[in-house]
Amino acid sequence: MYIGIDDTDSRENYCTTYVGTILQEELQKNYKMDTPKLIRMNPMVKYKTRGNGGVCLRIIEDEKKLDESEIESIRKLVIEMVEKFSDFDCENTNPGIVFLSEENYQKHEKTLLNYYNSVLYDILKVEDSEKVLNEIGAEYIKYKKGHGIIGALGAIASKPPFTYELLSYRKSEKWGTEREIDVDSILKMDSETFPFTFNNIDGKKSIITPHTPCPVLYGIRGISREILEKVKNIVKSDELDKCQIFITNQGTDAHLRFSKIKDIYPDTGVISYGKIIENPKEIAGGHVLFKIKDSTGEIDCIAYEPTKEFRNIVRKLICGDLVGVYGTVREEPFEINVEKLKVVTLRKIYEKNKFCVCGGTLKAKGLKSGYKCKVCGKRVNYDEIELNELKRDIKEGFYEVPPSARRHLSKPIVLYDFNLETIN
Ligand code: ATP
Repeated sequence: MYIGIDDTDSRENYCTTYVGTILQEELQKNYKMDTPKLIRMNPMVKYKTRGNGGVCLRIIEDEKKLDESEIESIRKLVIEMVEKFSDFDCENTNPGIVFLSEENYQKHEKTLLNYYNSVLYDILKVEDSEKVLNEIGAEYIKYKKGHGIIGALGAIASKPPFTYELLSYRKSEKWGTEREIDVDSILKMDSETFPFTFNNIDGKKSIITPHTPCPVLYGIRGISREILEKVKNIVKSDELDKCQIFITNQGTDAHLRFSKIKDIYPDTGVISYGKIIENPKEIAGGHVLFKIKDSTGEIDCIAYEPTKEFRNIVRKLICGDLVGVYGTVREEPFEINVEKLKVVTLRKIYEKNKFCVCGGTLKAKGLKSGYKCKVCGKRVNYDEIELNELKRDIKEGFYEVPPSARRHLSKPIVLYDFNLETIN
């Protein structure tokens, strides 16, 4: 049995992963549970609270199928906990719960995969999800506007690639207070475990704690369960109330897909290759804007101010460079918000060698006359002057925004060395 939950929290109260953790704890007392999932969906959704994440729990029925009364008591428990830990007073909180049987999950895998893709790449309406939910025989519960069912089904429908996140929670009396966490212990943890854990620090700054008053104390991302079990003992912090490891699509670039420029539309994520046709320029706010073109069209790309030193890479690009741009597309202005940049080929640039063999300087005498040495009088045709290639102050390769400017879903370059398809 699959249980999807989304849109329970507000910026002030609770966290959907917390409801997931409480339910996981309760359910595993009586049932065999799969690892819970924390699934991020299209980051361009406007009414998200933070990172547009939903949760999926699964009761494994390989040894014993759930009977009617068990299903009923599970339903009751889930509803009770979602109602207890949802911020119904917040206008933007519209919880949703989805229940899907193992049998219907297996029967509709193709539909679920298509749904997962659409929840990552597109903006859905509640009715779109309801249509799919009815088609696959799922039960769903909507509270208020019911937006939560979109992500609740998205979390159930998710597929590899995956990574892991260890989420730790503080005691309820500490919610809303400043988090006590020893930054040195985080730096130590990072130096001992990176890249098997990632996005822990930006320079010397810890980025594992949220800034909201929510139950989460910290979250550590990693590529194996074992490494996350280990880090718990390294990080020194406030007393932990609970800890839970989630499987997640964070750090996988699941929100991006290759796209020709003409096929790009707003509020989606793309990987588009093209030649730079307008040199990077500074615009108000410290952002850097450039334009690329492929055989189908052209589009502006922007490196926002919070991407800090990443903009220095962008500033070094020039017209004619071939790049791959990874990012999400805004509607207005219609442009790619760059998360990663692949510099495929740098245009070669040259300067004329105006030194004569005699040591003198070659002086231009016009297109027809070419160049003449001021010292020995030697002449060189205009087109035959030697060219020296200038060194570009940037190398071909892959560049990314700093960890603190990364989206949950963005795949850090260091993870390209790992096979994330096998995590399940
Ligand atoms: P929470 O921790 O409560 O889940 P959040 O930052 O993840 O916080 P939500 O409060 O869940 O954001 O708000 C996101 C809302 O967007 C949810 O109702 C979710 O169901 C919905 N949603 C998710 N993906 C899409 C999508 N592709 N199109 C439209 N709505 C979506």
